[in-house]
Amino acid sequence: MLTLAISKGRIWRDSIPLLAQLGLAPKDSAEDTRKLILPTVNPDFRLIIARAGDAATFVACGAAAAGIAGSDTLAETALADICQPLDLNLARCRMIVATSVDFNYDAAVRCGLPLTVATKYVNLARRHFAKRGMQVRFIKLHGALEIAPQVGLANAIVDLADSGDSLRVNGLIEREKIMDVSAMFIINRAAARRHRLALATLQKRFAKAVGDA
Ligand code: ADP
Ligand code: MG
Repeated sequence: MLTLAISKGRIWRDSIPLLAQLGLAPKDSAEDTRKLILPTVNPDFRLIIARAGDAATFVACGAAAAGIAGSDTLAETALADICQPLDLNLARCRMIVATSVDFNYDAAVRCGLPLTVATKYVNLARRHFAKRGMQVRFIKLHGALEIAPQVGLANAIVDLADSGDSLRVNGLIEREKIMDVSAMFIINRAAARRHRLALATLQKRFAKAVGDA
């Protein structure tokens, strides 16, 4: 039996129709159960519901043979032992830099003023600002990032945005896009060898289902 680790939340919700299409629908709906390991209608596969940041870790460590994780978490953790991911084009959003409406970001960039950035994605953000030659101090937060500028904790945040509503209601404005983000199908490198046929077939079916075959 092969285990697939799927990020909970948006990625889980967007992945369920795709999994169902491939004959991998969970037997119980995730909302109706407190189980975190779900059998699927295919006896050869089961699903782990993982925290967004943990799905890729399960796969990288071989606790799951494959899985679905956001490209944001893959970029942040840069885990080895994961094969070239397949973009599923689900749960799309973008990684952005935002500041208060009244903070002069352009001037800060131009003059190389030191910036304090609150984010959950410290590694990814550090790479971005280093490329731009900006001096940045990071404050790692795990949630409620949007309030950091208002309370004087940071000048800027690096976070995910979709509609931008949650930025707007918190008086923030998007200044830069760092990357487009979507859910990726990933395979553990050792599992790819050990279960070559099953996983190559599964990857092909995912690719075909999302129109990338
Ligand atoms: P959690 O809050 O437990 O981290 P989420 O439901 O917010 O779970 O899922 C987070 C994942 O969903 C992210 O890693 C990202 O890949 C994806 N995602 C897609 N759109 C958004 C969005 N607008 N905001 C946050 N995450 C998003
Ligand atoms: Mg969230």
